[in-house]
Amino acid sequence: MYEKFYAFLDTARKAAKEARHAAESAAYLAKKEAGKAASGAQLNIKILSKQREIQSAYQEVGKLMYNKHIGADGESDGLMEKLEALDALHLELAELEKQSGRVSVVRTCPTCGAEHEEGDAYCRECGEKFDKSK
Ligand SMILES: [Zn+2]
Repeated sequence: MYEKFYAFLDTARKAAKEARHAAESAAYLAKKEAGKAASGAQLNIKILSKQREIQSAYQEVGKLMYNKHIGADGESDGLMEKLEALDALHLELAELEKQSGRVSVVRTCPTCGAEHEEGDAYCRECGEKFDKSK
């Protein structure tokens, strides 16, 4: 029943492997670009936005996979592109996280659990005001 689906996954996997070289090139360019930018807060914002991109790409992949599962072939055309994009996004995120290694994240928002730096007055994720005395 799922043979067609697994054959499709195999194809997608091969395509993703072939795309890795291109993704690495993209990550290299992102690294060069990031090297020019200021570090610290700016880097954290980049990481957060990269994480959001990855989350939304996951959602799209999930939707496309489900469409494939129920046989809506026309709706899964973008899946390989999404998987390739995810490869590139993960490489870019890993690079950003490596660069931000020196940025100390010392607190966690009590409301949403997002990490933030000491001295932040508000949560960057949910806007919660922090009690400075804690
Ligand atoms: Zn929060």
